[in-house]
Amino acid sequence: MSPSNIHKDFPILFSEQQIAERTAEIGRQIDADYAGKSVVLVGVLKGAAIFLADLARSITVDCTFDFVAVSSYGKGQKTSGAVKLIKDLDLPIEGKNIIVVEDILDTGLTLCFLRNLFEQHRPRSLRVAALLDKPSRRLEKIEADYVGFKIPNHFVVGYGMDYAERFRNVRDIRLMPPDYPEMH
Ligand code: 5GP
Ligand code: MG
Ligand code: MG
Repeated sequence: MSPSNIHKDFPILFSEQQIAERTAEIGRQIDADYAGKSVVLVGVLKGAAIFLADLARSITVDCTFDFVAVSSYGKGQKTSGAVKLIKDLDLPIEGKNIIVVEDILDTGLTLCFLRNLFEQHRPRSLRVAALLDKPSRRLEKIEADYVGFKIPNHFVVGYGMDYAERFRNVRDIRLMPPDYPEMH
């Protein structure tokens, strides 16, 4: 098999259709919660970029986007534990209704770090939308307000999520085989 479609061997956890249906449901919930208001979707690069693109088009309330980038994971499947801001917000969020959009809420270190950072800017409100939630891995006391799917402790790729920067463009969410070799 060529390296470009090796992911076809990885089991599908959520299909494109399941992701689209769940994203639409979250969009309707956000529309109801923020009726008559404006929201700023703050995507966490790079993993949440695709979820943010689909979620933003599932909501009809007035909305703007911004992105931040943090690093916490190395090349492989293990976290280094430390979170570092690599790209800050471009737009002021003071007095705004913020929804932080994440691909996965795992240990919670990233979202805790971001929540503390954003709260210093005094937004009007701050909520979190996470496509996936791995509650069993949590180290920090943080929950998402909107969750796509709760999953057990498996490493996943696709729909924005990478392994060593690959597989972000895979359209469904797939389970990474635990014995997959480290790539360089
Ligand atoms: P945290 O542990 O800080 O909650 O999660 C940090 C980030 O690690 C997540 O937002 C996500 O980008 C990445 N991450 C956590 N679990 C996985 C996973 O199963 N697959 C991939 N590709 N990234 C993950
Ligand atoms: Mg992420
Ligand atoms: Mg990653």
